[in-house]
Amino acid sequence: MAVKSNDKAKITRRNFFKGSTLVMIGGAIASGAASVPVLRSEEPLLRPPGALDEDLFLASCIKCGQCLQVCPPKVIMLAKINQGFGLGTPYIVPREGACILCRGLPCVLACPTGSLNHDISEGSEAEMGLAVVSRPETCLSIKGENDLVYELVNLSDSDQLADSEKLKKILLRLIGKLTPDELDQWKKKWAFDEISVNTIPQILAKLNKENISWLVDFAEGTLQAAQACQICLETCPIKEENPIVFETRQDAETDRDYVTPVVQKTCVGCGVCEMECPTPAPSITIMPRLKWKEGAA
Ligand code: SF4
Ligand code: SF4
Ligand code: SF4
Repeated sequence: MAVKSNDKAKITRRNFFKGSTLVMIGGAIASGAASVPVLRSEEPLLRPPGALDEDLFLASCIKCGQCLQVCPPKVIMLAKINQGFGLGTPYIVPREGACILCRGLPCVLACPTGSLNHDISEGSEAEMGLAVVSRPETCLSIKGENDLVYELVNLSDSDQLADSEKLKKILLRLIGKLTPDELDQWKKKWAFDEISVNTIPQILAKLNKENISWLVDFAEGTLQAAQACQICLETCPIKEENPIVFETRQDAETDRDYVTPVVQKTCVGCGVCEMECPTPAPSITIMPRLKWKEGAA
């Protein structure tokens, strides 16, 4: 029977992919590929959004690199020989560049086999893994420290003043956090007409060891008391889904109250929190493929 024109319209790209995915995965299973014992890497790799279960993923991914080519922040890499049987399969190292869950998930759309599942279209469906506060001993929230003060202190103690991209990022956030009165104090001290996003180049030009020290004291006086670090939540691309909540707990040994990030089931494991965590080794890290369990956090 001929296909009517409005039936044709229903054959969307996604439906087409769904069909071809089933055929490819079916083929892989029929040929035994999916049941071939696979040599995995020692550490599970963080796969792009929507990756099928690892065995099916390894059996169906044709290593074409299409996902990598369409990824706007270019965070997808292809596995090397020392990473197991999945040579050439796509993975992400969040600390070096996390998945930002871009609108429409272009990597998923580009995958010709459905190894990145075409049934998903939103970042909130990505199911890559789960964030875990793996180094609570360094987490600034638990220690009661403000992240901007921490970063400014580190800058004043190091040669990173030359890293203007890092400085710009810190200044942008600092300006965004200060009240109009606090911005006025800074303006007067540095004899500026304005302190804003537009004046970042002038601020950068004036930043030397002495001025950074003043800025550290200033930030300590304003931000430190206001709030401890919540960068992982602030930078999370799906923060409206509450993937992290901050809970007050009590240290059983010292009776000290502290505030800790607690990961919720809405976390999809994109890794932005790991990338942005300001501690030298990230205090929060992604466990690829890990599923959330009630009470596990
Ligand atoms: S959703 Fe993530 S992995 Fe996919 S294209 Fe965007 S940044 Fe890259
Ligand atoms: S970003 Fe989150 S995990 Fe990292 S130090 Fe801040 S509160 Fe802790
Ligand atoms: S908490 Fe947010 S930023 Fe971190 S992995 Fe989960 S979804 Fe991504």
